[in-house]
Amino acid sequence: MTYSFTLSKPLQDYSTALREWSAAECRPYARQADIDKRRPDNWKTILDTAPVPLGRADRELPDPLPTFEEGYWVSHLAFYESINYGDIWVHPTLGNGGIGHLVVQAMGTPAQIEKWYDDAFVKQRGDTGFALTEPGFGSDTSKVATTATRDGDSWVLNGTKMYCTGGAFADYVVVFATIDKTQGAKGINAFVVPKGTPGFVVAKENEDKLGIRSWTTSELVFENCAVPLDHRLGWSAEGGDAEVGNGQGGALSALAWNRPNMSALAIGLAQASLDTVTPILKGQQAGFTPQRWASVERDLEAMNAALDRGRRLNYLAQSTVDAGNPSRSLSAAAKGYLPETVERVIRRCMELLGPEGASKELLLEKWYRDCKIMDIFEGSGQVQRIVVGRSLLGRLAG
Ligand SMILES: Cc1cc2nc3c(=O)[nH]c(=O)nc-3n(C[C@H](O)[C@H](O)[C@H](O)COP(=O)(O)OP(=O)(O)OC[C@H]3O[C@@H](n4cnc5c(N)ncnc54)[C@H](O)[C@@H]3O)c2cc1C
Repeated sequence: MTYSFTLSKPLQDYSTALREWSAAECRPYARQADIDKRRPDNWKTILDTAPVPLGRADRELPDPLPTFEEGYWVSHLAFYESINYGDIWVHPTLGNGGIGHLVVQAMGTPAQIEKWYDDAFVKQRGDTGFALTEPGFGSDTSKVATTATRDGDSWVLNGTKMYCTGGAFADYVVVFATIDKTQGAKGINAFVVPKGTPGFVVAKENEDKLGIRSWTTSELVFENCAVPLDHRLGWSAEGGDAEVGNGQGGALSALAWNRPNMSALAIGLAQASLDTVTPILKGQQAGFTPQRWASVERDLEAMNAALDRGRRLNYLAQSTVDAGNPSRSLSAAAKGYLPETVERVIRRCMELLGPEGASKELLLEKWYRDCKIMDIFEGSGQVQRIVVGRSLLGRLAG
């Protein structure tokens, strides 16, 4: 059996067109989006100039991403890397910043998948949020303190969720809550809470954070927030409790599928950084001693090789999802390796340019801040490396 991760010509052509466009048309707005902590006001006009479909949710007519022989998840990696090559403000404007729909897909009944995934997410192009993290925990997902209490025909949610990407504007948020604290992780369930449900309060629209400042990161409070019984994912009136999946398992599946996408966003920033410094260094070559130039060449080669390794790991992880047999350990391996590697690559790019590298004249310092966040959310690098270790020791299935 051979592995080949050379992308097909159609996907290569699509990615090149996307990368060139995002660098030329979107990157000029990167600094201001970081300062303003939001996308540019004219974002729709900017997106209108794209030479290829972007999968925009704001369009009345469908704008689906093309399909490629590599499969949905692998080809999305090329998409995420290329769109982020311009800057990180672009991707959330397409409409699918949050990942609540992935939990629906992972643990919904057929009727719930039809309603909240096929219709609300795919057909209506709705935004979704994923509300797991709370003031008291992030990595240890068994510590959910938000409660869901049965009251007649409703589940009533109470608790606070932090750092919910796109939460303030999502059409619905998937909220993780415990129905019985004595059951630990087994008591955690996932509930679909649509925007506007009484008791669903946006406490803070956007966190003031180190990087990805143009992305919305919200704090949400649920105060006696009642949703119908069939908003509990995996539950149906006919099947009753027997059909309910473990909410923690649903959260982990959704994250495992999406982690390589976040790593691909990070690769886009690193490639953009390398492509920024390379011509600048080339222009300075005449002033360098041969030894110093040889050291620059070695650094460029090492950074290129590190990104190539990460890309391949990412493709391998997502090829298992396309094959219908997702590997949590491969996804963790890619997430444990890539954002940290990208951080080192961008830091080295900055160092190679001296003071110019850290100046705000270039975007390297901003991309360095942006990529740090990618090492934190959707599971920190440290925790991903623990997951890989456990898998090597046979303590993790998949
Ligand atoms: C911009 C942004 C967007 C986010 N979006 C979302 C979202 O949409 N939905 C959502 O639910 N959450 C979201 N998060 C939260 C994010 O997933 C958590 O911040 C992350 O999981 C880490 O959790 P924590 O912050 O509680 O840190 P902690 O879990 O407290 O970890 C703190 C440090 O300890 C390390 N650590 C933790 N456990 C171990 C261990 N067992 N062994 C060794 N080291 C360990 C971690 O690696 C980290 O360095 C977002 C966060 C940010 C910054």
